[in-house]
Amino acid sequence: MIKRITAENYESGGKIPLHFRPVKKCPMCHSTFNGETMSSVIAPYEFVEYGETKRDWALYVLHYCQVCGLGFCGIYSQEPDRSLGRVYKPVVAIPERSEPLEFDPQIARLSPAFVKIYEEAHAAEKHDLTLICGMGYRKALEFLVKDYLIEKHPQESDTIAKEPLSQSIRRIDNLQIKTLAERSAWLGNDETHYTKKHDGYSYEDIKAFLEAMTAFILYEKTVEKAFLIPRK
Ligand SMILES: [Zn+2]
Repeated sequence: MIKRITAENYESGGKIPLHFRPVKKCPMCHSTFNGETMSSVIAPYEFVEYGETKRDWALYVLHYCQVCGLGFCGIYSQEPDRSLGRVYKPVVAIPERSEPLEFDPQIARLSPAFVKIYEEAHAAEKHDLTLICGMGYRKALEFLVKDYLIEKHPQESDTIAKEPLSQSIRRIDNLQIKTLAERSAWLGNDETHYTKKHDGYSYEDIKAFLEAMTAFILYEKTVEKAFLIPRK
């Protein structure tokens, strides 16, 4: 959706007709956003490109979301457009409430700490803190593995909690879960230490492995439930 508005130049007070593509989702309630605009101003904007701080004019739009009834500010930078000449496209919308991630309630019950840490790592990633979010995903992995094992072996919970992660991973019977956990731990170490041992992989792979792990854990739980049905 491209909208036409007239924005005010903050310096000259002049009115500038322009095209912009409103943010698609409200940053507060994450509902689809219809682009409702209260006011708009063209003013300077600072950004970092290839490590260099630069300035350009940007479009600041004060929006209103009808779903949550809150206002927010969208910042748009101009880009060339084949048919319209120039179109302002979204850079950021603030303030922002982090979107809750959808983990199956069974995973949230098994390891609430895993979900919390994963969400924090994800928030770091969303804020471009990509050099440290991998450590967060690595920490989330540790909680998932240990809580998964403690549920299976409650009598050994103290030992499992205290032993190194690699030792816990060796206890996992399910080969798929074990492989995913082991590889995630290797990649997680690369996110934490000075030297990287596994080139060509990143926190994205840890995320994908964690997602697959939660899927296998859910399969296991479904199979366990099936086993409980007695033959009659
Ligand atoms: Zn909203």
